[in-house]
Amino acid sequence: MSKLAALPSVEKLAAALAPDVSLPRPLINLFVRREIDRYRQLLLADEEHSREEIEASTKKGLREFANSRLQPVINATGVLIHTNLGRSPLGPRAATALQQIATGYSNLEFDLPSGARGKRAGYLETALACLLETEAATAVNNCAAALVLTLRTLVEEGKNEVIVSRSELVEIGGGFRIPEILETSGAKLVEVGATNKTHLYDYEKAITPQTALILKVHRSNFYIDGFIGEPEIPEIAKLAHDNGLPLVEDLGSGAMMDTDKLAPIEHEPTPQECLKRGIDLVIFSGDKLLGGPQSGIIGGRSDMVAKIKKEPFFRAVRCDKLILTTLQESIDQYLETKADPTLSDVPVLTFLRTEVEALKTRAEKIITGLSSENAGISIVDTTARPGGGTMPRSEFPSVAIKIVPKNQSVPKLARQLRNGETAVVGYTTDDALLLDLRTIFPESDELVTEALSATLIN
Ligand SMILES: *Cc1c(COP(=O)(O)O)cnc(C)c1O
Repeated sequence: MSKLAALPSVEKLAAALAPDVSLPRPLINLFVRREIDRYRQLLLADEEHSREEIEASTKKGLREFANSRLQPVINATGVLIHTNLGRSPLGPRAATALQQIATGYSNLEFDLPSGARGKRAGYLETALACLLETEAATAVNNCAAALVLTLRTLVEEGKNEVIVSRSELVEIGGGFRIPEILETSGAKLVEVGATNKTHLYDYEKAITPQTALILKVHRSNFYIDGFIGEPEIPEIAKLAHDNGLPLVEDLGSGAMMDTDKLAPIEHEPTPQECLKRGIDLVIFSGDKLLGGPQSGIIGGRSDMVAKIKKEPFFRAVRCDKLILTTLQESIDQYLETKADPTLSDVPVLTFLRTEVEALKTRAEKIITGLSSENAGISIVDTTARPGGGTMPRSEFPSVAIKIVPKNQSVPKLARQLRNGETAVVGYTTDDALLLDLRTIFPESDELVTEALSATLIN
């Protein structure tokens, strides 16, 4: 037991480590207490550690814990919509609006003309419907929630079957699978067709008096090729409508413009196209290719949108004022720049259409003046990707700074850059760390230079 007594006290150790980390003192105490407890357990199991070891490892753990706070990161991966790095960054216009609404009062549910209680998100819903060129629209917290909500609303006791093609039973990010979403929503999945081929008659045969709707799920994060086939949307829509059923599509990414016009990539179906082809309700994410805040947008037939808004679950997944503000700015901007998307300040769109030459010029500027004593530094051609579970087949040209460290390992160099003053996240190959310029904001170039010089000196 005397050995236990020799363990440093929580108070002393916390006090000693506090100057090294900028964390609230109660959190430092909590972290240190857990570490000491852990060492106590180890001691009881006859595993001894010196005081210095305990101090050093606690200090390291505490620094890592502090680094796990949500903080800005420079995305040098070349993946535009990086799920782990927060998907789509907002543009300056949305950020300004966010600042104003977040720090003051607003007319969130207040009608200024009458001075009476007002409709939440009324303006946004009209703007969304206008942009989608459809009857009505609304938004909730994310696309998965929008799908659950829609299904819950449209299925009922005795009429709860949802028909989905076997080629569309996808897993979306975070391990959420379409069959599980259906189950959560109280729907009964009716699979039709085969993995590679689904015919119109497969859908037709599956329709019963218990059918609630037909669901299409966009294969946004994978593709199938070879001996494949499926009916066109208008054919499925006609079948659904002839049987008095709605046709709903979970579109996922929700590109608002012709992606193939912005970059040498494939065409991602837009919600507008889906609705024109006969989809009754389309559902997509606000923070994938749309480039807005995390949200799930539902657009289409007004009777169905109205029903969705009356469903009690809507209240549980409704957006807060911060999301509503940034989404409102994003949608307004699309409406204003409809004729010329190059006027938009949505970062993912800007990144998509930046010329390779411009990236090269920036890369050259960043590496000018960097010492090559500790690393070989060069500029190389790379490929960037849309990411975020969108357009898995699309890659387009980009430029990266390639760093081959001379006296440390590539993973160590990468780790140092991730944990420096400004976190810079690149990607590694066997012998090099690559920092892709495509997803780095030009105004961050100087920070990248600083991070690199600090890392390469050490
Ligand atoms: C990404 C995606 C979702 C989930 O969107 P979240 O906004 O992450 O909830 C759902 N369906 C499809 C087809 C998707 O691509």
